[in-house]
Amino acid sequence: MSNGPKIVEVPGVPSLADEFAAFERERQQRRDRKRARAGVPGDGAPRRARAPVRPLRARGGVGAAVAGEGGGVTTVLLSGGLDSTVALFWARERWADVSAMSVDYKQKHRRELASAAHVAALAGVSHSVKRLEYPWPVMSGPVLAGRNSVLLMIAASHDASKAGGAGRVIIGACAADALAFVDCRPEYLLIKQQELTLGLGCPIELVAPFVDRTKAQIVQEARRLGAWDAVAASWSCYEGGDRPCGACGACMYRAEGFARAGEVDPWHA
Ligand SMILES: [Zn+2]
Repeated sequence: MSNGPKIVEVPGVPSLADEFAAFERERQQRRDRKRARAGVPGDGAPRRARAPVRPLRARGGVGAAVAGEGGGVTTVLLSGGLDSTVALFWARERWADVSAMSVDYKQKHRRELASAAHVAALAGVSHSVKRLEYPWPVMSGPVLAGRNSVLLMIAASHDASKAGGAGRVIIGACAADALAFVDCRPEYLLIKQQELTLGLGCPIELVAPFVDRTKAQIVQEARRLGAWDAVAASWSCYEGGDRPCGACGACMYRAEGFARAGEVDPWHA
């Protein structure tokens, strides 16, 4: 019996293999630009061809749309940001026993945890906050080494104990996250699902519904799900305070997603 999720093809949504080929091209272009800025001369030789990206859909696993099967408990990792907020409503549409979990790991500000509590209340699900005392090493910018890997284990272990031997964890990672956060990439999440199952000794289903979705597609999904009030309550800004700064990377990326979706962010309505 397979405990992995089923993949459902979504018309108009590019395949994971296409997405990752695009990510690889973009990363290569960034490396080339960096080399050019550093004055490293090119040798004119063609670059070694990369191994072809394996089509994840053929193997099953984490995908854009996952058909829910069976019951059991479902825990949504809720940061309080836009993606996890929409993922919570997406999960609530599919499964009955859904709860939200946030982890207080001494984030830069407390604002997103307050937003997470508000979002969970709007979704009508229970919300727990796990406190983690760990001086997390910073890789660069907002990237903390191994953060999502650890958060997934915290959520899955909660499921395993609560359900007495099974569980489902939802993470709101989107396509762009894969560029900066290596533990948001589909190939990693597929392995992580196996690791959680083996490490906890019970079937854990790891679902990343937006792993190949753009921010604009997530905004459209929020509209479809009727999650607009929760979107207004979500918090994406890297800064704290009462109002989003509008200038940080997270604010700009969110604004671009709404613009591409043809929507007005309820933050500004
Ligand atoms: Zn901001």
